[in-house]
Amino acid sequence: MQNFQGVGVSPGRVIGPVRQMPKPVSEPPSGEQLSSGTTAEEATAELKQAASAVHDELKARAERASGDGKAVLEATALMAKDTMLLKGAAKLIAKGTSNQRAVWESAASVAEMLHNLGGYMAERATDVLDVRSRIVAQLRGQAAPGIPASSTPFVLVAEDLAPADTATLDPGLVLALVTSGGGPQSHTAIIARSLGLPAVVAARGVDDLPDGAEVYVDGAAGAVVVEPGETERAAAVAWTETASLLADFDGQGTTADGHLVPLLANVGGAKDAVAAAGLGAEGIGLFRTEFCFLERDSEPSVDEQADAYLGVFAAFPGKKVVLRTLDAGADKPLPFLTDATEPNPALGVRGYRTDLTSPGVLKRQLEAIALAEQQSEADVWVMAPMISTADEAADFSSMCAEAGLKTPGVMVEVPSAALTADTILSEVSFASLGTNDLTQYAMAADRQLGPLAALNTPWQPAVLRLVRLSVEGAAAEGNSKPVGVCGEAAADPALAVVLVGLGVSTLSMTARSLAAVAAVLKTVTLDQAQELAQLALAARTADEARSRVREKLPVLEELGL
Ligand code: PEP
Ligand code: MG
Repeated sequence: MQNFQGVGVSPGRVIGPVRQMPKPVSEPPSGEQLSSGTTAEEATAELKQAASAVHDELKARAERASGDGKAVLEATALMAKDTMLLKGAAKLIAKGTSNQRAVWESAASVAEMLHNLGGYMAERATDVLDVRSRIVAQLRGQAAPGIPASSTPFVLVAEDLAPADTATLDPGLVLALVTSGGGPQSHTAIIARSLGLPAVVAARGVDDLPDGAEVYVDGAAGAVVVEPGETERAAAVAWTETASLLADFDGQGTTADGHLVPLLANVGGAKDAVAAAGLGAEGIGLFRTEFCFLERDSEPSVDEQADAYLGVFAAFPGKKVVLRTLDAGADKPLPFLTDATEPNPALGVRGYRTDLTSPGVLKRQLEAIALAEQQSEADVWVMAPMISTADEAADFSSMCAEAGLKTPGVMVEVPSAALTADTILSEVSFASLGTNDLTQYAMAADRQLGPLAALNTPWQPAVLRLVRLSVEGAAAEGNSKPVGVCGEAAADPALAVVLVGLGVSTLSMTARSLAAVAAVLKTVTLDQAQELAQLALAARTADEARSRVREKLPVLEELGL
């Protein structure tokens, strides 16, 4: 059988059987009628049986799960017994509609009704639609959609993962993630790193791997080997030893010669922040506030926001917490801020730009941040996403001042911001490089698309030059402002060294990557990091930059990173 090569996005070497993520359930044809010879009573009974099987299956999974996953599964299980859903379907069946089509349409009406009720009820609309797919799959005798249920560990193979899939992904059962789609900065990659799971993305062809096939996954090299031999088995055993070596981070990022590089964490809410503090993060370098409100269709109140922010600040008393204002749009739509019908959402009204179309939301968010700051001991810095011009930076800075927030900053993630970092930085106190978006915009390559993964890497010399320009702009006459990195590039230990060599002052990443980055950073002096940065900048291609730098960092191979 053939082996597969993708892009390694989260290190680790493991062996396990494949479980394919089932394909999404297709919509039953509109107008589909009961098949001849089937009575409405029989079709209704069959539907009830399917719904009840779905309920029991979800309930059983909820009992085995914990935390968020348990709550999601319990809520979805209840929906499978919803009387409005089943009665609505029975009425349609009585009029001659097939049971698959009937439950499809009935669920759509229930979801719409819940959606119109707003608030908590609106959030349940997704559960109804999920349950409908499960019931239709059950009626068809297909595998249920979503993460497969299993009592034994497996390597999850999928086209790509949606953020919602993570709630039910049990890191105790999933050994590794392999996707045929997705790029190095896709959701799957971010999720895998935050869970500490080895992962390979953009591995074309893996969709054809049969369930049960044994594979070896090397999440650093991007390799998937079918029917692993002795070499792979030995590598997997060696990794378990390395993994325990990498479990600890002593809380101080430094080069071999003592140049301090604070290592910070990227978080989406209080739970992540508490975990990050436990893993030794020196502070928070990116608090993605939109993650607190992803399912909301109305703007959260100032008090509700302040509570959510305070939860994060409280985990880091006396430490730096960089909060990013809502970055809605593209792959993170927020119904109260973004327009789902835009033709090019990544180039649309997203991030800071939503202040143009929904004035007031940003002002109220800044008020909420100030309120939370007053009640906490954290050193709060606030930055705006998707800043493209010096005027935007100046306006954001004045809004922060009005709200009483003292340390305003910007994300540099649009090439125009990197190119004009000198003027932009003269308006604010700091910048943080969002290398995920900076790469997708510099290369004009959607960060979510697997086929563009080779373009979409921050190792691209063009991206590295934009990083250098940003650092130079920030250090220009009269500026002297710090520039950190909070994109996924900071979590790649080899690239982290290059970024430090380019003059970046802090690195922020998923907390799980802190130990690996710290371990590699402390093997080089600042001079060596600068030499490696020059080597990467001078490369002709991304691959060349990566392999030249990796060659000079033998510690990576020793640690399996
Ligand atoms: C980035 O673009 O690099 C970034 C950190 O922001 P996000 O991934 O949330 O777009
Ligand atoms: Mg971004």
